[in-house]
Amino acid sequence: MDLKKSVRSIPGWPMEGVIFRDLTTLMLDPAAFQKSCDILYERYKASSVDKIVGIDARGFVFGAVLAYKLGIGFVPVRKKGKLPAETLEESYSLEYGSGTLEIHRDALDSGEQVVIVDDLIATGGTAGATVQLVNKLGADIIECAFLIELPDLGGRAQLRNCSVFAIMEFE
Ligand code: IMP
Repeated sequence: MDLKKSVRSIPGWPMEGVIFRDLTTLMLDPAAFQKSCDILYERYKASSVDKIVGIDARGFVFGAVLAYKLGIGFVPVRKKGKLPAETLEESYSLEYGSGTLEIHRDALDSGEQVVIVDDLIATGGTAGATVQLVNKLGADIIECAFLIELPDLGGRAQLRNCSVFAIMEFE
């Protein structure tokens, strides 16, 4: 199965010059959704991962499935103002706009081994901020995992101290 065929590309959204890679169509296709989750599970099932850190919002979908399959906890990194308990925050810039991400201070223990999951890496700003948050809590990052990488936007360079895995690449 060619997973790339289940991704819908929308030129000019959310702004002129951008081709948005829409993963809702992949999630809607049971075989493609299962295959994506299985690829992630197969990759990490033999690693000693303590927790999955998922990035708001589509990272929650794939990250939560992976955590369930691995039988470990899931930690949401959310856009500012959504998490109810004490948080750490990190500002970031992305392909179009900027923002702030937060993590609960008590979500990770020092020395825990985590995999960070998001749907897509573009410039790497979002994942880079998440790496900072995880590092501030003293946890170790096994890998940052994405369904899609847009290599032309150079996101890997933002995560140069981390291993990066992506299932698919798009221009
Ligand atoms: P970055 O911070 O520039 O790497 O952008 C990645 C973040 O923006 C991820 O959380 C993605 O969900 C979102 N994003 C950016 N471009 C796209 C896209 O084409 N499709 C889906 N999500 C995108």
